[in-house]
Amino acid sequence: MIIVMKPGSSREEIDHVVKKVEGVGLKAVLLHGTERNVIACLGDKRDIAQDFWNALPGVEKAMPILSPYKMASREVKPTNTEVLLGKFPFGAKKIGVIAGPCAVENKNQLISIAQRVKEAGAVALRGGAFKPRTNPYAFQGLMEEGLEYLAEAREKTGLPVVTEVLSPEHVQMVAKYADVLQIGTRNMGNFVLLKAVGEQPKPVILKRGMSATLEEFLLAAEYILSRGNTNVLLCERGIRTFENHTRFTLSLSAVPQLKQFTHLPIIVDPSHGTGKSSLVNPMSKGAVAVGADGLLIEVHIDPEKALIDGAQTLSTEEFKRLMKELKPLAQAVGRDV
Ligand code: PEP
Ligand code: MN
Repeated sequence: MIIVMKPGSSREEIDHVVKKVEGVGLKAVLLHGTERNVIACLGDKRDIAQDFWNALPGVEKAMPILSPYKMASREVKPTNTEVLLGKFPFGAKKIGVIAGPCAVENKNQLISIAQRVKEAGAVALRGGAFKPRTNPYAFQGLMEEGLEYLAEAREKTGLPVVTEVLSPEHVQMVAKYADVLQIGTRNMGNFVLLKAVGEQPKPVILKRGMSATLEEFLLAAEYILSRGNTNVLLCERGIRTFENHTRFTLSLSAVPQLKQFTHLPIIVDPSHGTGKSSLVNPMSKGAVAVGADGLLIEVHIDPEKALIDGAQTLSTEEFKRLMKELKPLAQAVGRDV
């Protein structure tokens, strides 16, 4: 059930409703909207009549939510949610581009990439310190040392930093350095990890599991939202299909479909989604055309020398060109970069 508050309802009225909800053994999570606030009531008690809630001061209406993902659903919140990465709101008019190397390799590499992607217009820096590698003998990332370099790159450039967290016991450490926590495709169904990032306040980029349906993807987001962290961005990063000319199949139709299902911002990762640097530029444009709120792009000073994912990585010059080319396209669909 959700309780929609009247526009202009007061803090006291909201607190009163929250107390009542908690008083009947349900969990109350407040979703702030631009026009009105909504209180999501989580739990399986259904025996309190809607009239009881409707009569509380400040309440517009209480209603049951039919979709299995309650808080992520547009039924609950028809207006887009904006999630701040640093000062940049994802889910608003401007499309945000997050860029940087697949892995943090060393301090100089990271800082020079950070400076260049910032100059080109990126609004956040990405870089992996804990890398989820298919091969256990492959480079696993610099770990805490990598996090320190990310924090230094933020100091130097002012860009908020995004990095992946692989396990619940690392959440606190990663959140100490990073501004945004990324949950990778291989961990979309790691419910213990989802709960852990839901219990801390930093924004989370949740990547779609490579074989997850959109409903499973949204239920994974629900794990985070229902723990109290409503700063979630969804990232389409390609799924496994029979096709093997690309590394994964980037499902661009997922973007407008997710926009119908959810109020959360949707970003697209054309780097992992294709595995080929030559396809990153056209698929980024495709993502903007179908309504993505942001892009996550792998960029390196010298992609041929990148320790991980060089084949899908743009050079800093290619990235700069892409940013220029995206602008008129974004404007053509009523957005901007
Ligand atoms: C990444 O962003 O570097 C990454 C490992 O992504 P994914 O989880 O989508 O494979
Ligand atoms: Mn990568």
